[in-house]
Amino acid sequence: MSLIPSIPENTPHILVFGMGGTIAGLAPNPEETPLQYQAGQVGVDALVSHIQSAIPGGIQLVSQQLANINSRNLLDADLTLLGQSVKEALVDDAVKGIVITHGTDTIEETGLFLQAICGKLAHTQAKRVILTGAMLPSNALGADGPSNLLDALRWASTSIENCPGGIYAVMDGRGCMAMDLAKRHATALNAPLQNSPSSSVGLINPSWLSGVKAVQHAWNEDLPIPQEGEWPWVEILTSHAGARPETVAQWLKSDVQGLVVAGSGQGGFHDAWAEPFKKAMAQGIALVRTTRTGAGTTLPNIPELDAPGCRASGVLSAPRARIALQLALNAAKQSNLAGKPLTWQDFFARIADLPEIR
Ligand code: ASP
Repeated sequence: MSLIPSIPENTPHILVFGMGGTIAGLAPNPEETPLQYQAGQVGVDALVSHIQSAIPGGIQLVSQQLANINSRNLLDADLTLLGQSVKEALVDDAVKGIVITHGTDTIEETGLFLQAICGKLAHTQAKRVILTGAMLPSNALGADGPSNLLDALRWASTSIENCPGGIYAVMDGRGCMAMDLAKRHATALNAPLQNSPSSSVGLINPSWLSGVKAVQHAWNEDLPIPQEGEWPWVEILTSHAGARPETVAQWLKSDVQGLVVAGSGQGGFHDAWAEPFKKAMAQGIALVRTTRTGAGTTLPNIPELDAPGCRASGVLSAPRARIALQLALNAAKQSNLAGKPLTWQDFFARIADLPEIR
């Protein structure tokens, strides 16, 4: 852990966790080809030092590098480490807020994960956890990382009346609940929250804020973090024209515990997959249907009746539904061991059936 500048222990501070990403990326030839670069090259200390002079006085910062990766390579173990670190920081009296610099490719997964494992804790501790990243590497002309990091630091440290404790994300001057992140554009500076309910970070939009409060009111209990090596194996399969039964059937011979179908339209899938899915569910493999369209809700029994063992994802996209299913399978296993048998569907519902922010 490093202190910037050195501060005595127990000094109130904002903790900045570095995970890597484009915000920490370097392009060998930034003027000619800024989008040809390597993510996760610059340390979080340097990212924070770079904006030190613009940080409002009185905010003390401590930074800690947890990983420095291209987030397309994010591992279950990275999430376990991040989740445990954030939970520890949330109960540390000296930590007033938390900022996480992260790659945007899988920031969607991390956003949902953090909400599910410590959304309640952040709310009750009245602390904000803010994910941010960048679409341009740190040495590109007009790099967006410094302003995103500054916005995140300001938001993490402003008074709680402005916006309650919880898990949020900031990009391109806007903030959203981290569980609403969805990177749906390859290059736009606001890609991860372009289609998400959001607010300007400067002036919080009251209708967005009341939506946030409704979600937080409905969020009663955080889910346990799977230990490294104990994450259930869940895969995503995309239904498409010309789909073959073998694509599903091959999983029946594996140890996979869950499948998320990125279905067409309202979350339906190719008829060729109906038989192998039936076999998968008979084998105890959990099945979640979602839509590959990129927006909208996947409803139960629409467009056809769901077989027992299959659940619609609600508003969750395929990457988010995959994390939710992993956490739900893990929580169901632990609740069984504790003699309180709840199903994965019970835990999945807690995440998928939340009020929608409009
Ligand atoms: N590939 C990069 C990453 O996710 C993209 C980014 O950060 O924008 O780490």
